[in-house]
Amino acid sequence: MPFSKFGLNKLILQAVAEKGYEQPTPIQQKAIPAILSGKNLIAAAQTGTGKTASFVLPLLQMFSHKHTLRAKRIRALILTPTRELAIQVAENVEQYGKHLHLTSMAMYGGVDMDPQKQRLIEGVDILVATPGRLLDMAHQRALHFDELEVLVIDEADKMLDMGFVNDINKIIERLPQERQNLLFSATLSNKVRFLAKTAINYALEISI
Ligand code: AMP
Repeated sequence: MPFSKFGLNKLILQAVAEKGYEQPTPIQQKAIPAILSGKNLIAAAQTGTGKTASFVLPLLQMFSHKHTLRAKRIRALILTPTRELAIQVAENVEQYGKHLHLTSMAMYGGVDMDPQKQRLIEGVDILVATPGRLLDMAHQRALHFDELEVLVIDEADKMLDMGFVNDINKIIERLPQERQNLLFSATLSNKVRFLAKTAINYALEISI
């Protein structure tokens, strides 16, 4: 199945072609159509399987039509356990979305909050963030979730191993009830499934 079968915007397909990808990976073949149809998803996929593009490409597609940037309002939130992963995922968003007019940002702790606050004021469509800094920003009213459409929890098992379960639950409490939820994890342990249940009412489960 070629990438062109997914019905993605040609500007996204162009960026994918520029990366040199010829075929979608198995996780991409399963996840991209499910996400585009609006489903909630729990996906078991290790790093190295192409999992990042499997959620980033449909997110870009969903937002490619609308450019309604509003200060401090994000439309998609991708939660990652570490700063390194946040940066890496945000780079993917930049690369696959380079021909679109969408804005994205990696937000993490350990650095000055002010430049990040300024970026939020300028408007961010897709925010990739670690949980602690995200909550700090929300508490300081630098960020509002009332226009959030999609939540992605990446590397959920690592999030739990690092003790982020309470932070994640606090973040979820702030999100609109009606949203699409995507959870990716290397393994679907009982703990991960429990988190998935609290974050997502009903989800399609896929594994590769
Ligand atoms: P990830 O599992 O998201 O960390 O991706 C692992 C690596 O696979 C990254 O270097 C991606 O650039 C690359 N990749 C993602 N999708 C494809 C694809 N369809 N074909 C070839 N490489 C890919």
